[in-house]
Amino acid sequence: GREIHLASRPTGWPTPENFTLVEATVPDPGPGQVLVRNVVMSVDPYMRGRMNDVKSYVPPFQVGAPLDGGAIGEVVASQADGLRPGDLVLHGLGWREYAVVDAAAARKVDPDLAPLSTYLGVLGMTGLTAYAGLLEVAAFRPGETVFVSAAAGAVGNLVGQIAKLKGAARVIGSAGSAAKVRRLEEVGFDAAFDYHDGPVAESLKAAAPDGIDVYFDNVGGDHLEAALGSLRTHGRVAVCGMISQYNSTEPPAAPRNLGLLIAQRLTVRGFLVADHADLQDQFVGEMAGWLREDRVKYDETFADGIENAPDAFLGVLRGDNLGKMLVRLG
Ligand code: NDP
Repeated sequence: GREIHLASRPTGWPTPENFTLVEATVPDPGPGQVLVRNVVMSVDPYMRGRMNDVKSYVPPFQVGAPLDGGAIGEVVASQADGLRPGDLVLHGLGWREYAVVDAAAARKVDPDLAPLSTYLGVLGMTGLTAYAGLLEVAAFRPGETVFVSAAAGAVGNLVGQIAKLKGAARVIGSAGSAAKVRRLEEVGFDAAFDYHDGPVAESLKAAAPDGIDVYFDNVGGDHLEAALGSLRTHGRVAVCGMISQYNSTEPPAAPRNLGLLIAQRLTVRGFLVADHADLQDQFVGEMAGWLREDRVKYDETFADGIENAPDAFLGVLRGDNLGKMLVRLG
């Protein structure tokens, strides 16, 4: 099977030369393991951080070794109780066509309940990130006004829709193109703007003249500064990501208005989805219901073939995606 290895570490923006496609021999599964043929894999912004050789909440990718990340695959050989050939599993060894996976690190998924790709998106990690970040970290309450950045992406789009379903007074999203802004209006955002059209602070003030209660931050920098400037007293920020800085080689300038934290008594709280696994069942139950009733719309952008995985990943960083970016394999 073929797999993508990290060829070198980027400085600033990654390039295709940082990746290599390698033909690898697939070992047999050992006791307690399964051999999986991957069907679909996720590419995610956090993977950019793993290309750097720094200690963080997930270990860095290693030069000369395959990358990894969320994937769904079909079991083709099993040495593990409870998993049989033909079973479909969610696991962490993406970026390769075949993987030998510890059964303990694989979770069976049901292709009849939902399309396989959704276990990586709306019903998976990005969905839980939106749900936990909005409801638990930002402690959103009905009647509040919510602003979310990267709002046409996997996490941000669901943040806005969940807020509406949970009784938000007003939901505002920012995104990087006119087409994305139109999509936000289609899925029920009350207002949306393209952050290229002017200073974010001005666009946000126009979209939320009475201010906001919650900011769900996927972007950092100017977006965070603008949100702080629009937050009402006792407003909250859930800091989910800062994608505007993942490829920067200079330290960021904004936000320059942190003094507002005092006068406005703001709460700014970072979080990792991995710490919110206790919400998984509640989240899946609620989200599956919304999907059944067609009350949540979700977008997916697909690339095809393992050879196109690096470009799909670069595409997420560039903003090529509407909704969840995924790679179909085989
Ligand atoms: P998305 O589907 O949102 O894709 C990333 C999007 O970011 C792009 O589509 C692009 O859209 C936007 N973007 C890129 N550069 C910039 C920029 N300079 N300024 C503004 N927007 C930019 O990815 P995810 O939904 O998977 O992730 C969203 C955020 O959540 C990321 O920051 C990620 O790191 C974070 N995250 C955090 C988790 C946690 O546990 N804390 C878990 C999962 C994700 P556009 O065209 O609008 O620019």
